[in-house]
Amino acid sequence: MITSRLAPSPTGAQHLGNARTYLIAHWSALHSQANMILRIEDVDSPRIKPWATAQVIEDLRWLGITWNEGPDVGGPHSPYVQTERMSLYRTSLDRLIEADRVYPCVCTRKDIEEAGSAPHFEHESPIYPGTCASWQNGDQLPEPGKYCWRFRAGSDNVAFDDLVLGQQSCIPKTSLGDFPITQKNGQPSYQLAVVVDDAAMGITEVVRGNDLLASTFRQLEIYAALDAIPPQFAHVPLVRGPDGRRLAKRHGDTRLSHYRDRGVAPETIIRWAAQTSGLDPNGEGFSWSKLSREDVIFDDFS
Ligand code: GLU
Repeated sequence: MITSRLAPSPTGAQHLGNARTYLIAHWSALHSQANMILRIEDVDSPRIKPWATAQVIEDLRWLGITWNEGPDVGGPHSPYVQTERMSLYRTSLDRLIEADRVYPCVCTRKDIEEAGSAPHFEHESPIYPGTCASWQNGDQLPEPGKYCWRFRAGSDNVAFDDLVLGQQSCIPKTSLGDFPITQKNGQPSYQLAVVVDDAAMGITEVVRGNDLLASTFRQLEIYAALDAIPPQFAHVPLVRGPDGRRLAKRHGDTRLSHYRDRGVAPETIIRWAAQTSGLDPNGEGFSWSKLSREDVIFDDFS
């Protein structure tokens, strides 16, 4: 049995790019009769908007996307909102501290930038120079609120077979560097929360944008450190504007709520998502091998 999930961050309205990813996840789930979970990822962003969760649910329903478990319908893996799951993240963090896989880091973004190591992947922050890495479990902690917990990236090759991109590998230590798994206020970061939740909810298939590919290597390291089984990943192409940049406000209003208010039928969006991905709009005959590997340029609905 495949268990998949939709994991929106309620940081604002969902736009076309999100819709396309959710629809692909939905078609895959329909085809394999997967259990689909809706989880609201409302940690790790100063941009969380209180109104956005209700709107995400409305957007997804409008697109005809269905789920078996979620904040609105309940289910065996409740709660489905990350801010209600804080004790789980704390328990996993304590395990990682105990195992000396993390250390407290007092560096600021500026300290790290000034250390001058070059970022490896596009849009990635610079590789952490290791300033605070000599700390060992049992050493004194810095002042509360002044440090984040940083994960020690491993020096072994990490590899996985992506359902869309095929075989992927990297050496996290040299390609990505040590990375934070909490913020300085003690809140878990995305990397920790997503692994703890996907593991606890028994997720076996993760469908998301390929901008998260580098994060997957970090997450695989956290899975290994927590003795958890990772899901299969499907990193789908991004939607870009005519200028080749990732679809955003600068390209006009592509919020789903905006289309809905203008009277655009959900079928228009579903048809566009299907056409641009080479898939059937009802998910019939779905196969990862059929999915177009090209990034999509959105100008208008044709
Ligand atoms: N909450 C994340 C986002 O909306 C999803 C990340 C993931 O699918 O792992 O970008």
